[in-house]
Amino acid sequence: MSAINTFLLQNNLRIATNPCVSPDFCLDWPALRSAIQTAQPIHAWPHSRFETAAGQWVLLEDAATGDCAWRLDARTGAAPVNTLADGVALADGAAIFPATFANLLRLKNLIQAHNPQSTIFPSATEQLGRSTLGIGARFTTLHWPAVEWAMAQLGIGVTANQNSIPRELVYDTDVMLAGKLDTVPFPFIGTNVPEGHQGQSVEGMSHGCVLSKLKTGFHTRGIAWSFNADHQPIGGKFDSREDALVTGCVLASYITFDLSPELAQTKVADDAAAWCAAHVPAALIATVKARVAQAGLTLNETDFAKLLAYVWPSLQKMKVRDGKYAAARAQAFTTEVGRAYLRELSIDELPGLTTPETTAIMLALCEALGMKIHFVAPAFGFQKNMPYPDNAALRTLIEKQWAVCANFGASIGFHSGSGKSAENYQVMGAVTGGRLEIKTSGRYTYEMGRGLFASKNSADQALWRDWYRFTLELALLGAYSTDATEQKMARVFIVDALAKSGHGTDVFASPAATRTALEALTPSPEHMFWFEYNFLHVLAADGRAEKAALGDHTPAGYRQRARFYTISDEGRLNFAKNIAAYIVFLARNTGLASAATCTAAETRLAGYTNLTAMLNDIAKA
Ligand SMILES: [Zn+2]
Repeated sequence: MSAINTFLLQNNLRIATNPCVSPDFCLDWPALRSAIQTAQPIHAWPHSRFETAAGQWVLLEDAATGDCAWRLDARTGAAPVNTLADGVALADGAAIFPATFANLLRLKNLIQAHNPQSTIFPSATEQLGRSTLGIGARFTTLHWPAVEWAMAQLGIGVTANQNSIPRELVYDTDVMLAGKLDTVPFPFIGTNVPEGHQGQSVEGMSHGCVLSKLKTGFHTRGIAWSFNADHQPIGGKFDSREDALVTGCVLASYITFDLSPELAQTKVADDAAAWCAAHVPAALIATVKARVAQAGLTLNETDFAKLLAYVWPSLQKMKVRDGKYAAARAQAFTTEVGRAYLRELSIDELPGLTTPETTAIMLALCEALGMKIHFVAPAFGFQKNMPYPDNAALRTLIEKQWAVCANFGASIGFHSGSGKSAENYQVMGAVTGGRLEIKTSGRYTYEMGRGLFASKNSADQALWRDWYRFTLELALLGAYSTDATEQKMARVFIVDALAKSGHGTDVFASPAATRTALEALTPSPEHMFWFEYNFLHVLAADGRAEKAALGDHTPAGYRQRARFYTISDEGRLNFAKNIAAYIVFLARNTGLASAATCTAAETRLAGYTNLTAMLNDIAKA
């Protein structure tokens, strides 16, 4: 048994209440196998049926533990037990297999060889490479059904699974168990938090998002969707583990390349032009210059040399990494459709607002290196969760970028895309003609808070109160920190919450005065300090508001995570409705779906009074 499955079983951390930690969706196959063999009650998901050459498949689940299995019925005779690994025959002629990650990879080949149009797995269709919404999946199994509902009702596929790896997801559970995950600096908290601060592993997420499509029957709609391995770090300190990153992301159909780790350690030579002449092939430089000129831009030679000298080391590493993503897919998958993936180039991490020249040079370089870029993400000066204040200025900025992107056949990726105004999204959609991606992630943690806050269930209310208290305590700690950035940010969050609630903001005479002021506030998910610190509560050891407790990958962290996965049906419904409503809002304002379609979806959504009714509208009727 794998180390992670042993760890989870020993600590009674089961998939039902702690999903997507293990790459496998079956922790205890001997127990599940014998339960199926002895006809104990095991749920067969009715919408999950699909076919391969070997016969008919259905997904089985032990509702108590969350352990899953595949049942195969051959068209005639007994089903072959060697179709996947660890199979056993049932008395009725069917074969059953554990839902391990290894079996999932094999099943993908069987499914796509039998039906290349199948939408059970994420894919890289032309449409998904032109126009999509990036939906960060912070709460995994609680989250996906809402995204599936929105895609089904709107009739469009989106990036239905997305998270940054290794920042938000555990890239390797063995490294996690060894306590050797790296840390990520969070200057606004004045500390470093272990990577993978949401607790799930990349393989576990990859597995869970596919099973979710089968459970809800989303796959019966035939709508292709994608899975984005977001902000894959290139170079710098990530060189030593790039093979592990590649292996973990093998099911992602869409890779975002983030060059910033390598750029952070690149020193541009004093004579950049001489450096380029010595290090970059002359033919490639000529090709890039000609391509940029063809796009209608005039290059300043000095600026060009400086930029090229700055980005060339990272682009070479990107090329190597890209080859590894392709090779991993070629090795694991047997079909063209199964091997294809989309690419995004993230350049919003480069200093300052991105100029059209920079975008053109980067796209021309990728083109010359044989890497087709589907999305490019320039910096527009967006602040996370803040509307862009000037729509006319935003239009001008996007128009300049769009002129370049259109020439290269790339769409624009809008990073830090959550929380913009309807008018901002309208401008993004109108200027690009819908050839865009809006990346949203943190928004959905907020929607969980709103969902719990509005729930009448007492356990949901207790979780909400603890969550709110956790952020209040972190804000108080931060407001008196000796770390200047941490103190400044905490006070900004506190002042914002007080001011928006009509309270006085002169509250920093003493910690006691600040506490009194904060405790006089009516708890609300609209308070900025709750919004900014909330994601850290998910894996805080026993929910403690202490820096040392954050991002805790021991049983204390996972027990805390389980609280979110045991919320009531009312809490789940609220959360699902909030997510779906936000996706419809984005689709309406960017123009990815028609106003009439969006209105119909909103009306239907508003009418649900229980989660089952909502889930029943996902599969094709
Ligand atoms: Zn980015």
